[in-house]
Amino acid sequence: MKNYWLQENKWKDVEEYLEKKKTILIPLGSVEQHAMHLPLGTDSFLAQAIAEDVAKETDTLIAPPIWTGWAPHHMAYKGTITLKPETLTSIVEDTCNSLIYHGFEKIILINGHREANLPPIKIGMTKVRNKTGAFLCIADPFYINAEKGKELSEVEPGGIGHAEELEASQMYYLLPDLCEPEASAKNIPKKHRFLEHDPFVPGDKMITASDVHTYKEATKGIGIMGDATLANKEKGKEYHEAMIKNIAEFVSHCETDIEVELRNTEIPI
Ligand SMILES: [Zn+2]
Repeated sequence: MKNYWLQENKWKDVEEYLEKKKTILIPLGSVEQHAMHLPLGTDSFLAQAIAEDVAKETDTLIAPPIWTGWAPHHMAYKGTITLKPETLTSIVEDTCNSLIYHGFEKIILINGHREANLPPIKIGMTKVRNKTGAFLCIADPFYINAEKGKELSEVEPGGIGHAEELEASQMYYLLPDLCEPEASAKNIPKKHRFLEHDPFVPGDKMITASDVHTYKEATKGIGIMGDATLANKEKGKEYHEAMIKNIAEFVSHCETDIEVELRNTEIPI
């Protein structure tokens, strides 16, 4: 394929693609503060870079990126843009329904805004799945690359959160010109054991709602949760390559092993 991004193709190219392949990737991210060392677009830049590398590996088309996500707590810092969750759900639904109308059967959503975007995206894709029978799934770095993340991470327990070691490492590797490693910081607050948010710390947990005031306090007015001082591009390269390998393997599995019969394919109106 010449152009992996759908928007860089002509409609005839998409028609030809659909004659042999029915899978498409959709990168989703967020425009939200990422402390002093990473740019606001980190989650979206990463989702797009991951999608591009998976596309090259598997010869798969990528839908235009969904740049903004659900990030109300990050409004504590300037520049963050948040969608209402129902807006994000609708964007996911309308985008997927448009693609399915044309004949795409398998949609892999690549979420760069780790974990936080999941509830609205899951609602959107569940509605689409139930209506159309299409196969939809989310590749989220916390889950699809958990094993490599655990292996590479050198932080103390509680150190995986926001703008931290793994996310910063991947950015230093992929988009170094937008990063300032010398401005990286460490913030690992002591928490009650049920309130631990680090996905790599095992144990029994509660899930709480966050708000701008407590989030600003918890992130020490810097915007970090974790330890970015341990980030480096070598770690980022290994983390990224493992992620691409996992997602590419799943794209191939979708192609060969997942059967779909579409129904109710309608234009979103
Ligand atoms: Zn992020």
